[in-house]
Amino acid sequence: MPDLVVRALRVWLEGAFRPAQVQVSGGAVTGILPFEPPVAGAVTLPDDEVLLPGLVDSHVHVNEPGRTAWEGFTSATRAAAAGGVTTIVDMPLNSIPPTTTVEALELKTDATIGKLTADVAFWGGAVPGNLGSLKALHDAGVRGFKAFLAPSGVDEFEHLPEELLEPALAEIAAIGSVLIVHAEDPSHLHEAHGGSYDDFVASRPPISERNAIAHVIDAMRVTGARAHILHVSAADSLDLVREARAEGLPLTVETCPHYLTLRAEDVPTGGTQFKCCPPIRDGANQDLLWEAVLDGTFDAIVSDHSPSTADLKRGDFGSSWGGIAGLQLGFTVVWTEARRRGLPLDAILPLFTTGPARVAGLAAGVIEVGAPAHLVAFAPDDEWVVDVRALEHKNPISPYDGARVTGLARSVWLRGEPIVERGLVSRAGTGRTILPEAEGA
Ligand SMILES: [Zn+2]
Repeated sequence: MPDLVVRALRVWLEGAFRPAQVQVSGGAVTGILPFEPPVAGAVTLPDDEVLLPGLVDSHVHVNEPGRTAWEGFTSATRAAAAGGVTTIVDMPLNSIPPTTTVEALELKTDATIGKLTADVAFWGGAVPGNLGSLKALHDAGVRGFKAFLAPSGVDEFEHLPEELLEPALAEIAAIGSVLIVHAEDPSHLHEAHGGSYDDFVASRPPISERNAIAHVIDAMRVTGARAHILHVSAADSLDLVREARAEGLPLTVETCPHYLTLRAEDVPTGGTQFKCCPPIRDGANQDLLWEAVLDGTFDAIVSDHSPSTADLKRGDFGSSWGGIAGLQLGFTVVWTEARRRGLPLDAILPLFTTGPARVAGLAAGVIEVGAPAHLVAFAPDDEWVVDVRALEHKNPISPYDGARVTGLARSVWLRGEPIVERGLVSRAGTGRTILPEAEGA
């Protein structure tokens, strides 16, 4: 007898929906059976739910240890689960210490004990101080290395000056890892001249993203390294990405829900909950980002969940913390916008599943025999209004507060065990860290 069988008319299998029964034993998928006849004891989803693989979010700032007041493993993984995300990859900052040494990775994994509701993998950091010793961190299990080309926003995580980009990529190539890059060229950034949103956007112009991406591509060509561009906001830099790929360079690229769903012209006066770097740009730019979603330019849509405490998020657009809290809402808000644009769920699903899994080298985001049984019963037509106080995020600050959205993760299973029921986290603490020895778990 299998431990669980979930039966649905629309199951996301090999990149398409079809009717099926998914059989689970020992935490893994053990069979994909035809929809008929029903297996005894099968859980049949109602017709308004689709069965998805657990979503993957490869860009989350958990901030623990050190800045646990900003988020933390307990709250972040509960928020992930409630949003249908069963695997997150933690960024090497803004925890203290940042994940730039093996000791720091150990402190971080120690800090997860007993707290995980979703699975967590880890990015390391590439900073001027640890170049030359990345292999040890790679061997300890980080999925790749994050570098900033402009100041990161926290003092303890230094950015790579332009002359260190090529050596960093050469080292990454030698160990067979990937450099994931916050691509803004500091020579095109300036202090915001006033406190308005327009002043802030003007201080981080599209050319800063374009130039930084060009630097990465040039250095990839010399070193042969794999690189990934994080959170692209300026659509006019994407032609560089398309050309680099046409040339055969192993370049991947992501964007974020806030760039696809929020627009500069709608940011309210003083609305610093909308502040992030690079910034949310205008609606014309957003339309071009959506074209890039549809033409396959983007590999992943990931939250870049980067909250802080309320006091740091206050003030004007020059001084407040730059980061958006969106882990629990990412898939729902992008689906809401996709639907408004007349697009099917199929159009965005790879960017929330296999896409980010591939970026991070993870065997997640699929329903197939042998895969861990991370499953989501998603109700694409459920309409609800975001109440920031009801979210699992630690700090109740979100640009989506009060938004009417469509789509809810009603049930989530982690390794075949229910962790979300009727849209609420029902079981915490069964998530795991994903490190080399636990691969595929
Ligand atoms: Zn980030």
